[in-house]
Amino acid sequence: MLMEEITSKEFEEIKKEIKTVIIPVGSIEAHGPHLPLATDLYTIYEVCKLVANKIKVLIAPPLYYGLCRSTKPLPGTLSIKGEILKTFLLNVLSEFYRQGFKNFFILSGHAGGTHKAYLIDTAETFIETHRETKFFVADIYQLLKPILEELKIPEKDSHAGEWEASLILYFKPELVKEGAFEDYPNFPKFRVVAEKEKYWSSGIWGNPLKATKEKGKILAEKLAQILVKEIELIEKEK
Ligand SMILES: [Zn+2]
Repeated sequence: MLMEEITSKEFEEIKKEIKTVIIPVGSIEAHGPHLPLATDLYTIYEVCKLVANKIKVLIAPPLYYGLCRSTKPLPGTLSIKGEILKTFLLNVLSEFYRQGFKNFFILSGHAGGTHKAYLIDTAETFIETHRETKFFVADIYQLLKPILEELKIPEKDSHAGEWEASLILYFKPELVKEGAFEDYPNFPKFRVVAEKEKYWSSGIWGNPLKATKEKGKILAEKLAQILVKEIELIEKEK
């Protein structure tokens, strides 16, 4: 169930049978010459829609923005401060709680480490004062890991590469442009650098040339199955 498409009356009705809310979080971020800026939002939101076709769950209106460190200097990246991301999400969580929900899945299409840390910290902060709530917080890259192994997509493929381009080829083929190439960043270890574009100018971390629509379909469907299981588990838990 997509919350944005239902009425207030329908919302009241579905609350009787739906226990879990998924909040999809994306980012507006450079994804090479071939993928759209909202890639991270499209991948996770479309997977959430597949989940909603398989199980009764409420999909919250998604958050398009996220915190992007490494791609920040690249054209088109809009990075939101972590404190703002956290404050905003805490507010959204309070509102869902006020409307009667206690199980929350925060699923991010953006896999940046700092971004993810803020999402986890949001859940930690909320659960401290709402101990009866349940949280599942993950990013798409973590969730896809076992499937990437099955498809023999190398672990170092992480951004605008084989798996991400495959998902966009599957969900939004009309938005995939020419110009993809294999590339990897070379950030110096443990350094925080101002001129990030010196070490990563393409926004590609992997090999998008190996992406196919078929792989995208497998990734999307298997990920939806994993999420359905996780929702069932959380809802069964006493
Ligand atoms: Zn991405």
